[in-house]
Amino acid sequence: MILFKETAALKKHLKTLKEQHKEIGFVPTMGALHEGHISLIKSARENTDIVICSIFVNPTQFNDPKDLEKYPVTLDQDILLLEENQTDILFFPSVKEIYPDGKDLKTPYALGYIETILEGAARPGHFQGVAQVVDRLLAIIEPDTVFMGQKDYQQIMVIRKMIELKKYPVEIFSAPIKREISGLAISSRNMRLTEQEKKDASAIYTSLLFIKENYGKLSIHQLQKRAAEMLTNSGFHKIDYIAFADVATLNPITEYQPKQKIIILIAAFMDEVRLIDNLICDV
Ligand code: AMP
Repeated sequence: MILFKETAALKKHLKTLKEQHKEIGFVPTMGALHEGHISLIKSARENTDIVICSIFVNPTQFNDPKDLEKYPVTLDQDILLLEENQTDILFFPSVKEIYPDGKDLKTPYALGYIETILEGAARPGHFQGVAQVVDRLLAIIEPDTVFMGQKDYQQIMVIRKMIELKKYPVEIFSAPIKREISGLAISSRNMRLTEQEKKDASAIYTSLLFIKENYGKLSIHQLQKRAAEMLTNSGFHKIDYIAFADVATLNPITEYQPKQKIIILIAAFMDEVRLIDNLICDV
């Protein structure tokens, strides 16, 4: 694996690879790598010639400075994991390298409805920061495909919108959510939970399964109420949302409609750690 900290050197290397008509697969991450990230690396390995991973804890997407401060950094371990999984290139730039002219966004991205709901509503400015960093990374790397996790479902929709706005010739590969045996969606934030909290946190997945099982049998309101009870009884003290939405648009669903493909999305706090998860529901 070749490591790059500087954009200029990376671009020079990529130019040579592109002259050899290599297909570039890109996996953007914030590090503290786990099986979820590795599943993206594996998908990239299977589908492209050159796998490039970036590790950059992006300051512009943290609306809560404490969250940024506490974000885990495990670079040595990340490098080993990436090496073990046949990553070709690691790009781990400094903040200055990504934001040489400062972090302010001159013109906000016209993301529209998608940034006003769910994660967008709970974390103001978050998706502008996500769009900004992925835009900059895509401009540097110019990959053929970017590999992203369905765990951050709304994030993929935001990136799709940004790519459309900027007309980048890049495909998005959306990878399924990797889970612990308990069902808990693997996340870098899980490192901040105790073993007991991790067990309790699997209630998010249990409640998603409960909703999927009973969608169409109970009303959406009843399902939300029951799921909220399940979460509260397992130690989630604050629930940001238990949302039902159209899978293609994320428009809210308030009533069961047969044959409509929906997604259920949950965000809730276990202690100070905010966890998100989702499940697609085909009926
Ligand atoms: P992050 O480092 O949290 O910004 O995540 C980097 C990428 O990994 C994003 O595309 C995430 O959606 C994806 N990812 C995070 N957790 C998982 C998971 N459990 N399964 C699959 N992909 C994931």
